[in-house]
Amino acid sequence: MTYQARRYLLMTVDPVHIGTGGYRLGRVDLAIAREPGTHLPKIPGTSLAGVARAYAAARYEKLRCAGQGQPRKDTAGKVIPNTDHCGEAACPICYTFGYAKGDEGSGYAGTVSLFDATIALFPVHSLAGPVWATTPGRLREAGFVVTGPAPAPDAAVVTGGWNKPLNLGWLMLPTTGGAQVQPPGPCWLGEAEPAWQAIQNRIVLVDEGLFSQVVNANLEVRTSVSIDPFTGAAATGALFTYEAIPRAAWLAFDVVEDDYRRDPKKPWPVDKTHLGKPLGETWASPHDVAAAGLALAEWLGVGGMGTRGFGRIRLMGHWRPDQRLDQQGGAQ
Ligand SMILES: [Zn+2]
Repeated sequence: MTYQARRYLLMTVDPVHIGTGGYRLGRVDLAIAREPGTHLPKIPGTSLAGVARAYAAARYEKLRCAGQGQPRKDTAGKVIPNTDHCGEAACPICYTFGYAKGDEGSGYAGTVSLFDATIALFPVHSLAGPVWATTPGRLREAGFVVTGPAPAPDAAVVTGGWNKPLNLGWLMLPTTGGAQVQPPGPCWLGEAEPAWQAIQNRIVLVDEGLFSQVVNANLEVRTSVSIDPFTGAAATGALFTYEAIPRAAWLAFDVVEDDYRRDPKKPWPVDKTHLGKPLGETWASPHDVAAAGLALAEWLGVGGMGTRGFGRIRLMGHWRPDQRLDQQGGAQ
């Protein structure tokens, strides 16, 4: 079996702005990437794959293997040697994310695919303090075990003890209690478990139809202005607004490993003893390399507006999406 899926949960540590590269008429100048069907913001898999590759290359000191792999040229237009992807079979970056050597016409596809991160738990201000809005369907799709009543189209079901009407931003909803949400098994990374416990009893389940409105009404919208480099003052007409997924939002995404290059009779071809050493981590599969890159996004961020303090994401946990608590007694 060469396929192995991992489902990750990430939490935004800052607001995250992944632009669409275009303008949307109306509310903001710089809109963020969204799922077309639900209109919910997402972090595209291409963005995650880009940072995973770039940061893994930094961690494993294989900077030439980051990026697109186009060789650099000097001022005379001559190709500078050793500036494209190395393409070595034992290179963790080229093996994991693939490479193409244009001059030789050689290349391999990568052995991991990263998919879009979709919103699982969305923080909203309410009179009960911060709560995390979601839907039973979204949580179950991410792998959580959800019990209790299903929310009516115009009402909310809550975990924890709240028993009065509750506002999600400007939207006031009657509530019912009795919901419980559990992860599919032991899955938390590092210090993530206390963060989960802090929100576990502050979850508000709403109907799928309402969820998109709740999210889109509670995105972070900021206004910035461009500074004229000659005067040091705000440039005329340079005020712009942009939206972002707020901090403390939880998103789920899949990474699928297809280690088609692996010879089952041999160990993983990458030289672990040499390349893994400075990291103090074992890494024995493309999954490990992708995770090592994504882990650095907690410091270096993803998406735009990084210099404005945007973009850091933290991996909170992972499990195998084909493995459920009720079937297997816990995820690995
Ligand atoms: Zn390489």
